[in-house]
Amino acid sequence: MDHFEVSNGVLHAEDVALPVIAAEVGTPVYVYSRATLTRHARVFRDALSILPAVKIAFAVKSNPNLAVLKVLAAEGYGADVVSGGEMERALAAGMKPDGIVFSGVGKTEAEMRRGIEAGIGQFNLESEEEGLELAEIAASMGKVASAALRVNPDVDAGTHGKISTGKAENKFGVPFDRAAAIYARLADTPGLNMRGLALHIGSQLSKLDPLEAAFTKVGGLMRAIREGGHAVTHMDLGGGVGVPYKAGEVFPQPAEYAAMVAKVTADWGVTLMFEPGRVITGNTGVLMTQVVRVKEGAGHPWVVVDAAMNDLARPALYDAWHDFAAVEPTGETFVANIVGPICESSDTFAMARTIDKVGRGDLAVFRTAGAYGATMANTYNSRPLVPEVMVDGEKWAVVADRIDPATILAAERVPDFLK
Ligand SMILES: *Cc1c(COP(=O)(O)O)cnc(C)c1O
Repeated sequence: MDHFEVSNGVLHAEDVALPVIAAEVGTPVYVYSRATLTRHARVFRDALSILPAVKIAFAVKSNPNLAVLKVLAAEGYGADVVSGGEMERALAAGMKPDGIVFSGVGKTEAEMRRGIEAGIGQFNLESEEEGLELAEIAASMGKVASAALRVNPDVDAGTHGKISTGKAENKFGVPFDRAAAIYARLADTPGLNMRGLALHIGSQLSKLDPLEAAFTKVGGLMRAIREGGHAVTHMDLGGGVGVPYKAGEVFPQPAEYAAMVAKVTADWGVTLMFEPGRVITGNTGVLMTQVVRVKEGAGHPWVVVDAAMNDLARPALYDAWHDFAAVEPTGETFVANIVGPICESSDTFAMARTIDKVGRGDLAVFRTAGAYGATMANTYNSRPLVPEVMVDGEKWAVVADRIDPATILAAERVPDFLK
């Protein structure tokens, strides 16, 4: 459910007509609905409230906008971060250091040091090497770093290959059959407080079965580690719950996910940690664009829009589908291809799709663009960096400026040897 609806013939974000935003800010532009964000955050949190002890760390990489993080901080969310930059954002948004989890295979010494200094709650270690480095850094600072060991459960998440993370051939975590021994060695290393295991098998999962299989497997590992005499007090189950991108698709609901987790973890006796990203922010945003022109082709007409793969990379990266809708639909439809202006054939949003009839100058949106949208934007083809707007009832504000090519050009230098 979201708060992007047609009212009096015009698509609104909550109480704001989208053409108002287009007129002031221009296009392309991401538009977020605060009410939708809050709703998703609450539905997920409330669903998990059937579990005894829960910590939720929002996957910042899905939408790192400061205003978005502020809303989630107010809802009691912590943060799952994968870089020093994301950690600083989470702290700037007022998230408690204790609620921050640092994931990722390539944490640098500087990032680990800064994390310890800031007092973040947990490092999710992706290797024994990383654990030993973290221990050394913490010990040299006279501190103890809390950590979990990320395990690769070798389970097929059944999602797109480029967003699968829990198969043996993926770079993430330590191999399942070596995890207990690594955990034991790290638990005996001064400077580290090994408190649990972590996993995350992939993103945009459409079924709960792979998650259930992975949780069950890692639960067995937890028991083996305990039998070896080491404590496990925290289990981080990652993120990955998918969202429908096509109208009518059915995905697991947070309540079904929570019921599955409750069943699998009933006798675990731990604090359960979660790292949802897309399920919180996906429906929170749309990317609004304007039709530049409609070009006749050999087959279907080409609807050329002013948004491109640099603004919304998912279709080019993962063949992802985003529903497309006119801001002022006439009720008429046609079959068309939707493309951006970038000089790459991968700058294609849809082929041979039945869409609202649009023509030159019309506004339209790509839906479900709140996760892995603006955060992946870049300036390829010397295009501006896309701005972001947040709507709250009748109010709205720009929450990230459009960065124009002149500003980017101004950061470049011609060296003396070329003068
Ligand atoms: C990307 C990521 C997430 C969030 O994934 P979603 O599919 O957006 O829920 C959570 N944890 C880790 C470690 C990740 O890399």
